[in-house]
Amino acid sequence: MQSPSFTGGIGAALEKIRECVGDAGWIDDAGAMAPYLDEQRGLYRGAAAAVVCPANTAEVSQVLALCNDAGIGVVPQGGNTGLCGGAVATGDQIILSLRRMRQLRALDPVNRTITVEAGCILAEIQQTASDEGLLFPLSLAAEGSCQIGGNLATNAGGTNALRYGIARDLALGLEVVLANGDVWDGLSSLKKDNTGYDLRDLFIGSEGTLGIITAAVLRLFPQPGDVQTALVAVENVEQALAVLGRMQDASDGRVSACELMSATSVGFAARHIPDCRAPFDPAPPWVVLLELSGGRRVGELRPLFDAVLEEALDAGEISDAVIAESQTQAAALWRLRESIPEAQKHEGGSIKHDVSVPVSSVPEFLRRAIPAVEALLPGARVCPFGHLGDGNIHFNVSQPFGAETPAFLAEWERCNRVVHDIVVALHGSFSAEHGIGRLKTTELAHYKSPVAVQAMRQIKLALDPRGILNPGAVLA
Ligand code: FAD
Ligand code: ZN
Repeated sequence: MQSPSFTGGIGAALEKIRECVGDAGWIDDAGAMAPYLDEQRGLYRGAAAAVVCPANTAEVSQVLALCNDAGIGVVPQGGNTGLCGGAVATGDQIILSLRRMRQLRALDPVNRTITVEAGCILAEIQQTASDEGLLFPLSLAAEGSCQIGGNLATNAGGTNALRYGIARDLALGLEVVLANGDVWDGLSSLKKDNTGYDLRDLFIGSEGTLGIITAAVLRLFPQPGDVQTALVAVENVEQALAVLGRMQDASDGRVSACELMSATSVGFAARHIPDCRAPFDPAPPWVVLLELSGGRRVGELRPLFDAVLEEALDAGEISDAVIAESQTQAAALWRLRESIPEAQKHEGGSIKHDVSVPVSSVPEFLRRAIPAVEALLPGARVCPFGHLGDGNIHFNVSQPFGAETPAFLAEWERCNRVVHDIVVALHGSFSAEHGIGRLKTTELAHYKSPVAVQAMRQIKLALDPRGILNPGAVLA
């Protein structure tokens, strides 16, 4: 089945785009387009005039120039794993998928950099670095399908951000195609380059609204010789922060992950995911996954890790701990954390918030937000978990038992207001790592300062005067 045909200038432009990318880069069959139109959370139903998959930067440039001239909206798409509807198109727009741009352009072990095209899958980049004895530390549960272009466009965080930083910290240079087709070659591998405005930082996190990222220079790190992983039981979040601080101090800041899980979230995983449970009985109110990495040889960090956990036990900060004795056991502990979003799907509708506050304010945030949401939505099950070490909590709320899902989800905006007001009062962010997309444009308009929004609009106008890049995302 073909998508509807377009007439006039748009039809002619689409025909030229098709010629430019050839059959290998053109999809307009409804069945073949379907995976590009689906959206992770099922909140949006996409449509598109076509899915266009250029093979290289020159083709991206030509496609954008044609779209700009004809006024055709372009929605860039990477692995389509984003959680805010940022890659959703409407029928008169094209989706520009980077999936064919997967070249490794360079790897410089002395400079500790890798230059990759935007369509490279995150896990493949990790593997390429690892094959050279190096580490590309960006890591998230979608790494088997998300692309580095999407990671940079959303400024992804993930589980290693505590130690190595977020996507912005891991990119030295970018190549970007602008709305009019101009190519900005900013593929610098310099750590220090103070020559005017930082365009790289402007494009990172811009969610496809300012330009299309086609390649990037990424930073690499030494592979840690040892990784120690433990699950610890705590009575409250203050204790979780105490043990994190203790571990950071003792290890010179080598904690690579500190993931918090509420009893509710752990219970969901145990109920719905086979062989997935926290090894504590009775179940503690909170569980923390701690990971320490570094050193040269396997087992090197273990004495330190054991000693710190023992001190924490003696100090009453933790009530119990399970230390992984093998990589398989460590993977099982990680599975518990990473299964939570999947497990939560089995509990019916979920209202999700991806928030951050200063790390020291996480206990206060939870103390205020949990009862506030329980009062707003009686019977709703608050299921917080997330990257405690970054102050980033996925504050998810599952529907009450037996509730009607659509009626529960209709409360999303009211719930946003309650949760986000608390976040903002604590000097936090209503979108910590997933971006704005189409889902949070109202929140951006509500919470971002008018001065910031106006500056953003002016930047958008300067770089994309015809408004063809990802219309409706970020700035509605
Ligand atoms: P897409 O979903 O395809 O696109 C995301 C946005 O970027 C869209 O606005 C799109 O238009 C734009 N875009 C994509 N490619 C380009 C490009 N080349 N140039 C310009 N714009 C572009 N995110 C986190 O930050 N941390 C996590 O821990 C995390 N965990 C996740 C776990 C799961 C199971 C899932 C499904 C998602 C998770 N995410 C997480 C969200 C998501 O994986 C990330 O946002 C990811 O970085 C998106 O990459 P993608 O290639 O799938 O981008
Ligand atoms: Zn996350």
